[in-house]
Amino acid sequence: MTASLVSAHGVRKRYGSVEVLCGIDLDVGRGDVACLIGPSGSGKSTFLRCINHLETIDAGRLHVGGQPVGYEQRGGKSYELSDKQTARRRQRIGMVFQRFNLFPHLSALENIMEAPRRVRKESKAVARERAERLLDRVGLADKAHSYPTQLSGGQQQRVAIARALAMEPELMLFDEPTSALDPELVGEVLDVMLQLAADGMTMIVVTHEMTFAREVGSTLAFMDNGIIVESGEPRPMLAAPEHRRTRAFLSNVL
Ligand code: ADP
Ligand code: MG
Repeated sequence: MTASLVSAHGVRKRYGSVEVLCGIDLDVGRGDVACLIGPSGSGKSTFLRCINHLETIDAGRLHVGGQPVGYEQRGGKSYELSDKQTARRRQRIGMVFQRFNLFPHLSALENIMEAPRRVRKESKAVARERAERLLDRVGLADKAHSYPTQLSGGQQQRVAIARALAMEPELMLFDEPTSALDPELVGEVLDVMLQLAADGMTMIVVTHEMTFAREVGSTLAFMDNGIIVESGEPRPMLAAPEHRRTRAFLSNVL
């Protein structure tokens, strides 16, 4: 048991003979915003997928909400979760990807209502009321009946965030949520994420937006070759990174 919402110790993951995560240690407290940076191929997405149990880990300990990912502990014993139990756990984690992946044949409102209706069997009225509230929260109250193709990338990503929030997650994972956006659309998505953080949501954010990491992050972790090379408070770390590899990476992105 741990006070952290997410707790990783020595997490390892390999694909075939290639070790992609080589012992990840990270603790994310409730209400924290942990920003994860690092070069392409360093294992950031894989780590997020492990947290969400879209991948299984090979070694180490990974807990979300005090429970080991993929297992349940009862009476000092570990039981592997069924697919159904895994799906239920996953509902408590919202995930937002680089590509928005909205359902093209559904309006913004219907996209947000879909999971609560299908998974939770919520009534239309209840799901709709929340979806409208969430659209308002991401600044898109007037786009309820627009279809994804009628929305800009930034607007689509804000709908995707609202859709993830519709399942009332306790944790939000963001995997480069602004990387696919035109530069002028990045700010509107970051603003929504900033608001979410201010409202106390626990978030793990893989990003190249160093200003966001500095201003919003409670911790910053630099990942390279499957390990966290350096982590700490964003401001001092960005101002004076300790490790050579962190310095080299930052000098390329800043
Ligand atoms: P990042 O998100 O930091 O760019 P990833 O976690 O996507 O890194 O990938 C880390 C490494 O794992 C890469 O070398 C990638 O090719 C490899 N990898 C990721 N997913 C798979 C997979 N399903 N099968 C085999 N190799 C994979
Ligand atoms: Mg990635």
